[in-house]
Amino acid sequence: MRKIKLLAAFFLSAVMILVSGADSIRADTFFSQLFRGASKSSDLVVVLDAGHGGSDSGAVGNRLMEKILTLKIAQYCKAELEQYNGVKVYMTRKNDTFVGLDQRISIASVVKADVFVSLHINSAVSSSATGAEVFYPNSNYRPALSVQGKRLASAIQKNLTSLGLRNRGLKTANSMIGSSYPDGSLADYYAVIRGAKKAGFPGIIVEHAFISNASDAKTFLNTNSQLKKLGVADAKGIAFVFRVNDLSKLNVSDEDVVTILSNLLNNAIEACELCDDNRIIKLKFVKENDLIIIAVKNTFNCDVICEDGNIKSTKTINADEHGMGIKNVLKVIEKYGGSYVIEDQNKEFYFSIVIPA
Ligand SMILES: [Zn+2]
Repeated sequence: MRKIKLLAAFFLSAVMILVSGADSIRADTFFSQLFRGASKSSDLVVVLDAGHGGSDSGAVGNRLMEKILTLKIAQYCKAELEQYNGVKVYMTRKNDTFVGLDQRISIASVVKADVFVSLHINSAVSSSATGAEVFYPNSNYRPALSVQGKRLASAIQKNLTSLGLRNRGLKTANSMIGSSYPDGSLADYYAVIRGAKKAGFPGIIVEHAFISNASDAKTFLNTNSQLKKLGVADAKGIAFVFRVNDLSKLNVSDEDVVTILSNLLNNAIEACELCDDNRIIKLKFVKENDLIIIAVKNTFNCDVICEDGNIKSTKTINADEHGMGIKNVLKVIEKYGGSYVIEDQNKEFYFSIVIPA
């Protein structure tokens, strides 16, 4: 039994695998794990709520106006989310108009929101306050929404702070006038978080940066490209937590996916093992624009023999067995009307497959 260790790290739906000599895990076991977990039967509905608008300018500072910034962030966030499959995005306002807080939740309820994300810019009397913070629902009344909201808040906060924003943490805020939920428990302070919980979906408030701080304003709020980074950070947090682009709904059967992945990876592992160092396997497995893209790239350290555009062998041991796995892979590609490309250059080998999703 070959001793191979696969260290896997997921970056959204892309996967990188590094190979080194140690323990063992079977490729097909590994890939069957990709399909674990609940799959949604319909699209994720995200409602983006650009804070303030119209007669309500929100906070103002450093020659910037919150209502304008939140709308831009929402638009960038929407554009980013719409690059994924399986997500529908709605906005509570699409232009500079006033929308009441209750109305924002009504809009979200009508479109059957799965999650409500309210986008804001912070402000403080002290011009030295800086950084990002995210409010999520308290654990009263519908605790599952608090858990979900916190998970999302955490993912977004992580993305925002990795842009360089100071981490002010994740927060909850309780009603200061003793408002309660239908079960008598203390309600959340913020109207949209409270309203979302009553309506049955998690609502969070993202306070991206301080408009009242010169450095935050200059570094994070001053240009469209800065605002885009904030919107993309929000979108990636949402996509990560709600498993957008989930690979569990593919038209290709689990068995056929295993045939492709286990054969490509087995070949990649065998080729890699012959390398003295620089043993690297990279795997891309994504659904993009109704296509499944599976690509394996690996280093190798021997001559690739090409015959009629096909790779004949990179094996030194049991070379006669080689090719059966690839033939099975090609059968699967053909079965689903897909196509493939094989290339080798600079001691790196690529096998890319595209199949209609
Ligand atoms: Zn605000």
